[in-house]
Amino acid sequence: MIRTRYAPSPTGALNVGGARTALFNYLFARQQGGKFVLRIEDTDLERSDKKYEKDIFESLRWLGIEADESPEQGGSYAPYRQSERTPIYQKYIEKLLGDGLAFYCFHSETELENEKNELMSVKKPVLHLCEYRSMDPKEAEILKDAKREYILRFKTPLGRKIVFQDLIRGELSFESDLLGDFSIAKRPDLPLYNFAVVADDETMKISHVIRGEDHISNTPKQILLIEALGFQTPQYAHLPLILGTDRSKLSKRHGAAGVSEYRAEGYLSDALFNFMALLGWSPGNDREILSQEELIREFSLERVQKSGAIFDTTKLEWMNGYYIRQKSVKELIKLCTPFLEEVGLMKAQSARFASEARRVKRKAQKEYLEKIIALEQPRLKKLSELPERVDYFFRAPKYEKDLLRWKDMSDEELRIALQEILLIFKDYAKAGGSELEKTFFSKIGSGDKGRLLWPLRAALSGKKASPGPFEIIAVLGVEEAQKRVKTASALL
Ligand code: GLU
Repeated sequence: MIRTRYAPSPTGALNVGGARTALFNYLFARQQGGKFVLRIEDTDLERSDKKYEKDIFESLRWLGIEADESPEQGGSYAPYRQSERTPIYQKYIEKLLGDGLAFYCFHSETELENEKNELMSVKKPVLHLCEYRSMDPKEAEILKDAKREYILRFKTPLGRKIVFQDLIRGELSFESDLLGDFSIAKRPDLPLYNFAVVADDETMKISHVIRGEDHISNTPKQILLIEALGFQTPQYAHLPLILGTDRSKLSKRHGAAGVSEYRAEGYLSDALFNFMALLGWSPGNDREILSQEELIREFSLERVQKSGAIFDTTKLEWMNGYYIRQKSVKELIKLCTPFLEEVGLMKAQSARFASEARRVKRKAQKEYLEKIIALEQPRLKKLSELPERVDYFFRAPKYEKDLLRWKDMSDEELRIALQEILLIFKDYAKAGGSELEKTFFSKIGSGDKGRLLWPLRAALSGKKASPGPFEIIAVLGVEEAQKRVKTASALL
């Protein structure tokens, strides 16, 4: 049975790197008909925070990366939070101690720090081969009883070569002599990362450990622990780092944000899902738009690249625009409504019983909104751009009179242009109101179109850039348009 896991430490909000790791574990498990486990690694009690745990759960759910087993859902190998698994760790630490494969180290932090600085000053590898590794356990008990500070270390075998097959990188090998007697726990009930991971992966029957390449250097330590405890070694796959477009490690400086921030900015979950799948993996042709079903079908660890994956925000925006265009107007309204409500352009509607008059009004509002969204759908890259682009449909625009000015028109010329526009509106009303645009163009003839169309568009939208005036009027209605041109001419 294929079982993968994503094992974040809740010491920060879910970022793109973590979400990509979760996604690859999820895709692989789904494709292989296996299970995907979410485990919270909160052994660092000082830095772990429930608010980050919540962010991780919510962001993964929003992305559609659903775990089969997790702290929230439970599962056959519960609990899924390391802080709740103490007895398991204690049992295995005691086993290592009993087998003489782990020991108590009584060096103080200052001693260790000094040793490290000395090694660095002579450019030797920083590792701690501990004198306490051969201390008689009975003597160690006496020191412990005397309340000497300690930590637990693994007695790393010397002269060993540790080799494993990484599913992405091929064979990797390490010298045990360069590992030192690494720490495994602060106390038998307070395990440290390398130890807790090994105990959990075994007891949760994890078959594939898919994680970032920053964990490669931990793998030989984990393999030694696995051997010492007689556990099964899982398969390893270390994913490439994510880099900015300048090829340095991805950071906030590149505009990279947490998943919840992308969500707040109006990226669609399907777009981010698709985009992240291509961070280090490709389907083997130049296809970039892949649905979740296609990704599950086509994903393979063999096609994950070794070299860094470039995170290109421009591409993400393009992809988001693509996914926005694929939505039906109805779906898009649902997605956009919170953004419009947030800035007060729309009021949250209560689901309470509404009067007939109210229902009619709501229906009209809904149709109005549909037109606005349909107008912006082709141009929108992020939902958060929407309020600023469409606010003038919800309230009369505010602007300086200079905005109305086409090229170097004088105030007088502008005043005349606005009067002409109002006259055309009048004629148009007489003509029965069918073809406003045509009327305008026949009046303009071969003259400079901007002379009338710019002030018209500016008076309607109050913006330097917006859809064309007739597209706006089609939504706004002729009456409101006329009113806005009147307001504009009053400015002169
Ligand atoms: N908890 C580790 C982290 O947040 C992940 C450990 C692992 O995948 O082995 O980086």
